Amino acid sequence: NQPRIGLIGLGTMGAALALNIAEKGFPIAVWNRTSGVAQRFHDDAGDLAARIVPTETLADLVAAIAPPRAIILMVPAGVAVDAQLESLSPLLGPEDLVIDAGNADFHDTNRRDQAALPFRFLGMGVSGGEDGARHGPAIMGGGSQTDWDLVAPVMTAISAKADDGTPCAARMGDAGAGHFVKMVHNGIEYADMQMIAEVYGLMRDGMGLHAAAISDIFAGWNDGVLSSYLIEISAKVTAARDRHTGAAMPDVILDRAGQKGTGRWTAIEAQHLSAPIPVIEAAVMARNVSARLDERQAGEARFGAAPGPCPLDAEVLEQALIAGKILCYAQGFTMIDGASGRFGWTLDLPGIARVWRAGCIIRSAMLNDMADALAEDPARNLIMAPFFADLLARAMPALRQVVTQGIAAGHALPALASGLMWFDMMRTARGTANMIQAQRDFFGAHGFERLDGIDDRHGPWG
Ligand code: NDP
Repeated sequence: NQPRIGLIGLGTMGAALALNIAEKGFPIAVWNRTSGVAQRFHDDAGDLAARIVPTETLADLVAAIAPPRAIILMVPAGVAVDAQLESLSPLLGPEDLVIDAGNADFHDTNRRDQAALPFRFLGMGVSGGEDGARHGPAIMGGGSQTDWDLVAPVMTAISAKADDGTPCAARMGDAGAGHFVKMVHNGIEYADMQMIAEVYGLMRDGMGLHAAAISDIFAGWNDGVLSSYLIEISAKVTAARDRHTGAAMPDVILDRAGQKGTGRWTAIEAQHLSAPIPVIEAAVMARNVSARLDERQAGEARFGAAPGPCPLDAEVLEQALIAGKILCYAQGFTMIDGASGRFGWTLDLPGIARVWRAGCIIRSAMLNDMADALAEDPARNLIMAPFFADLLARAMPALRQVVTQGIAAGHALPALASGLMWFDMMRTARGTANMIQAQRDFFGAHGFERLDGIDDRHGPWG
């Protein structure tokens, strides 16, 4: 009964993942940088302690695992991962496998994949927070098929299961593919959260609703097309009361959002890939603006508070959110598709939608339909899939109404408005870039293509 798998880093995620692995019947050896943590983790593990082997040094950890070993790293992304890989190098052989399961920058995973490490290496995105790691996360693997196959039984056993029973764990592609897909997942997560926050703001400041009433609306939406983890927890956080003051919980929380960088990475990478993801970019921008509290306070003092009354139906808001969500996911999947070409991966778009159906933060009912639509034709933009084109045709007037009315009343709706802008550009066959081309040719002789086919690439600018 010697473990074949080990885990380094018994923090929030590592501890939860180790318990999940032990619970699914796999003995596991664990090690943590701070002395005594592994032993305490073992002692607190109750019935699962029998399958957990605590170790005090890295060498003990390696010795406790039967070869070929699989060792999961659950430490902060970046230098900590490189340091652990270096420390493991003299201890492991070519048949052993190290899995970086933190939120690595996929460029780092690509680099580590190419480095002459004396062991095998997988990059693996894990989503679902602590609860997901404990009871079933979504798992996005990156590396060779052989290496993935080595740990696939464990990963499928511990992963979330979609309603049809399919495990939400899959190999996305080579090297950094898993961390790339996890990164875009997080970008979409930022956008989903931002759009919900914008709609919350319209209800709070435009419609004058109290948190409890907003909670009821979110709860109702969770029974419909928008059914998802993020809508579910939005209903819960708006219903919760502060244990100190008895006030509605959102009303006592400062409006300054933190971020650990994966949304920003998505926005940056989208620029490298020339992938338009304006809803995600708007969500990252909104977090950055939220962080500038002093400036916002000075702005309000100088120019007056922005949001004013904005009467809207909850049903119209629901439809607007449905539209925004489809537009955002269409952008995200197009970005993923672009990475396939750039990095030589063959990213399976319907497979990715399937992995996201359960366990992860963006899990939602709509991802089932997205998986089906992408399976019909992965190369087609999601907004053109008949199912989503029909949904959009019904929901876009609501998004337009919410954005125009909201903006007229002074509400900042960057994510919803960005979705609308993108959609209008996407359905304009004759846009305005002819003007850009004329200007570029004027000042830089860059040339242009003509509509009439006449062979003359320059204007008469003199
Ligand atoms: P925690 O801060 O809770 O735990 C970090 C762990 O890493 C601790 O065990 C810590 O050990 C160890 N550690 C820190 N620095 C080093 C180092 N230089 N060398 C060795 N070990 C080190 O972090 P999380 O569990 O939240 O996150 C771990 C990874 O998972 C991160 O990459 C994070 O981005 C990712 N992640 C987190 C999610 C979340 O919801 N929290 C969701 C998905 C991914 P020590 O006790 O000695 O400090």
